[in-house]
Amino acid sequence: MKIRLLFTVARGYTDKTAMRSVVEQVHAARPNAVLVHGDCPEGDQDVAAIWRELGGIDEPRPADWYGPCRPQCRPRHRRIKDGKEYCPAAGPYRNHEMFGPEPIQETHALVATGSRGARDTAEMSTRLGIPTFTWPLGAGAVTVPPYRADRFSCEIAVFCDTCEHEERGDYLVHENDSENRRFGYARAYLRTQGWHCDKSGDFCPHHKPRQLSLEDA
Ligand SMILES: [Zn+2]
Ligand SMILES: [Zn+2]
Repeated sequence: MKIRLLFTVARGYTDKTAMRSVVEQVHAARPNAVLVHGDCPEGDQDVAAIWRELGGIDEPRPADWYGPCRPQCRPRHRRIKDGKEYCPAAGPYRNHEMFGPEPIQETHALVATGSRGARDTAEMSTRLGIPTFTWPLGAGAVTVPPYRADRFSCEIAVFCDTCEHEERGDYLVHENDSENRRFGYARAYLRTQGWHCDKSGDFCPHHKPRQLSLEDA
C-alpha cells in the first residue's frame, strides 16, 4: 500500500543538521512513503529535498496565496506584499486540505518557538486521530522523541448507512487498537471529506442528516 506522510516545518526551524537526522530516521522506517508537504521555501522545500536525495517521492501542495478569496474569508482582509495582493488565509486553507483527498497515515511536525503554523497542523492531525510526531528545535539540536514506526497499515472500509456507498482507505493502526478505535481513524478522516459519522451512524455527503438551522427553530 501507499503510505502518505505529512511533514510540516516551522519557519523558525533553522537547524539543517537536526532536520536531516529527522528526515533520515523517518525515511529509514518508511522508505516507500510519499511525503506530502506545503512547498514553503523556508522549511518544507528543505525537507523535501533531503527526502528526494534519499530516494523518496514527494508531493508538494503549495498554497494559492494570490488566488481569489473564498466565501468564508473575512471581507477586505487581503494584504499586499512586494506590490502583490494576497489572501492571508490561503496557508491555513492549504494546511487543512493537505489531509485529503487521500488519507494521511502519519504526521511529522518540526516545530520551533514562535512559529505557529507547524504546531497548528500537528494539532489538527492529532484531532483527526492520525499518529503525530512533534520534533522540537532545541538549542542547536533536536530533542528526539521516541519515534517507533510500530504501526502497520490496515485497510478500513466505511459504508453509508443509507446508500451503502463504500469508502476504503489505508490507515496506520496499532496492534492493540480496538476495532472501534481503528474505525475511529477512518471516521475522523471521512468527516473532513463531508461525511457525517457519529452514534447515529455513518452517512455519505449526499445522505448526511440536515443540520438544524436557526430558521427551523
Ligand atoms: Zn481571503
Ligand atoms: Zn449515501
